[in-house]
Amino acid sequence: MKFIGAHVSAAGGVENAPLNAHKIGASAFALFTKNQRQWKAKPLTEKNIQLFKERCEKYGYKPQQILPHDSYLINLGHPEQEALQKSRDAFVDELQRCMQLGLDRLNFHPGSHLRKMDISLCLSRISESINLALDQSEGVIAVIENTAGQGSNLGWRFEELSEIIDQVEDKSRVGVCLDTCHTFAAGYDLRTQESCEKTFSEFEQTVGFQYLKGMHLNDSKCELGSRKDRHHSLGQGEIGWEVFRYIMKDDRFNGVPMVLETIDETIWPDEIEALKMMQ
Ligand SMILES: [Zn+2]
Ligand SMILES: [Zn+2]
Repeated sequence: MKFIGAHVSAAGGVENAPLNAHKIGASAFALFTKNQRQWKAKPLTEKNIQLFKERCEKYGYKPQQILPHDSYLINLGHPEQEALQKSRDAFVDELQRCMQLGLDRLNFHPGSHLRKMDISLCLSRISESINLALDQSEGVIAVIENTAGQGSNLGWRFEELSEIIDQVEDKSRVGVCLDTCHTFAAGYDLRTQESCEKTFSEFEQTVGFQYLKGMHLNDSKCELGSRKDRHHSLGQGEIGWEVFRYIMKDDRFNGVPMVLETIDETIWPDEIEALKMMQ
């Protein structure tokens, strides 16, 4: 079973996300549970929580079909102690919001060394941040997203994802979200069936599909290995349709939320429909 949707708006309250997902024919969705560009947020109210749960039930969204995304401000590998602590506190808050909503996973970008620390040390710091956060939460999987490797962002090479996971104590509560645009920008070709075969078998060997807890389905405006994070609508960028045909036909991608973060939301219903037809 494939779960396919988009990162929908939660403007006006988290309870609007399942509604917005249903409207575009999605069987999965992503959302921010708070404003992604601010540190502080009002706590979720009983009403937010109750309505969110009711609507997920009504429209048939189970936790495994939902991929909440944390704030862009959080850097779990921050080289400076004070800023690191701020990120760690905010991350725990994000995990606790997921728990309140009955969600079982939280998608986040691993972190950046800001050219102030060694890569390996930064990866260990990210793992330590995850360990600390898992201790202060329950039942939510920390889902590391692979990055395009822009600037000093880590987690663009599969080896880095694996290095983080290796140092997480509770392996049952850590996972990975693969973004097709980021994967391609990081230098892993996805343009043909053969290159997909090669890239995903490399993922299988280095990380393992047992850790796959979500996908971001995006085309890329920038070329292979550009290390730039610029999403495009499906089939309109440098990657093309082949990777999406590959994913839709491959059982290793079953049972996880797969969401569009493509640039033209007016065509999300068509993109979702096109993906569903490829199964
Ligand atoms: Zn993404
Ligand atoms: Zn991106």
